[in-house]
Amino acid sequence: MVVEALHGGADHISAEEIYEQVRDRYPYANISTVYRTLELLKELGLVTEVELGDGRVRYHPAERGRHHHLVCQKCGIILDLPENAISNLEDVLFHEYGFQADLRHLAIFGLCTECRN
Ligand SMILES: [Zn+2]
Ligand SMILES: [Zn+2]
Repeated sequence: MVVEALHGGADHISAEEIYEQVRDRYPYANISTVYRTLELLKELGLVTEVELGDGRVRYHPAERGRHHHLVCQKCGIILDLPENAISNLEDVLFHEYGFQADLRHLAIFGLCTECRN
């Protein structure tokens, strides 16, 4: 059910939203089961998560999580960024710092064009 909600849901879905869908069909489900399932799916590499600045962790099926987000801290607009836009950074971190960064599905905070003016 959780997997179904992830795939059928909107772009990003929060645990609370998944729970609402599951509860419609399984009234006895509880939210801690949803959290536990999401943790498990994360360990298996089937979901990625992102926190887009509103304090709610949101989830993507892993295959749809291959992008990043630019989040405007003023108006809240969220722009998608292709994954390769920061692949240079990954190389720099790896080659100059020997650090293998986990740069999947990031939220980068700042100001959009409108809000900078
Ligand atoms: Zn995303
Ligand atoms: Zn803005």
